Amino acid sequence: MSAVLVIAGTDSSGGAGLTRDVATLSQLGTDTLCAVTAVTAQSDRAVAAVHAVPADMVRAQIAAALASGRVAALKIGMLATAANARAVAEMLARTIELPVVLDPVLVASSGGALLDAEGVKVLRAELLSRVMLLTPNVPEAAALLNSDVARSEAQLLRQGEALLALGARAVLIKGGHFGGEQCTDLLFTNTTGVRHLRAPRIARTRRGSGCALASAIAAGLAAQLDLYDACVRAKRYIGEFFQTGK
Ligand code: PLP
Repeated sequence: MSAVLVIAGTDSSGGAGLTRDVATLSQLGTDTLCAVTAVTAQSDRAVAAVHAVPADMVRAQIAAALASGRVAALKIGMLATAANARAVAEMLARTIELPVVLDPVLVASSGGALLDAEGVKVLRAELLSRVMLLTPNVPEAAALLNSDVARSEAQLLRQGEALLALGARAVLIKGGHFGGEQCTDLLFTNTTGVRHLRAPRIARTRRGSGCALASAIAAGLAAQLDLYDACVRAKRYIGEFFQTGK
């Protein structure tokens, strides 16, 4: 069975974070190895406390997971601190040619910060150039670029190109926070330009959907799907995640 190394935080409510990643990967027939970056106490309404795992321990977990020889792709979620973002960037520089999906987890939907301000700078300057795919939602894309939140497709297209220019090999801007009858994600790559991934909009939100999407894409990459097919399959999975509530 193929395996994904998830580098992420825990969410005590079980809605998002590592438990969501493990559930997603398991449903897609993929094993999970993990490196925990932070332990959070939270509910659907608030982040009560964040305890960041020391960077040395994050490094040690990643090294141990990679040494197993089982990791076929990586998914990065919550990093909590600049020190952890830097530790992950260093580990990626040292190791690998494996595909990496980076979900830029900045703020919980309840409003609590999940990455400190210095960490956002490290993510931009040191991590982006080491990942295959960055998966921001519309507000995250704006935050990473220090821009206003996009209100038109033209603005989104400019922001996608600007994020590519920061170094990720591909960028998937998720359309969940954007209006319209369809929920359209935009996939930007240097080689194939921009592609639209459309799905009917489901009038429902669920915590952890960003975590689940990035993990589902990583599962596809671990199973040797190409990036576009991995994104299409993951989007279909998320449709079911919203519909079935499982
Ligand atoms: N908590 C943790 C530990 C996460 O990794 C994430 C991931 O995005 C969140 C909270 C945010 O989840 P949501 O924005 O769906 O509330």
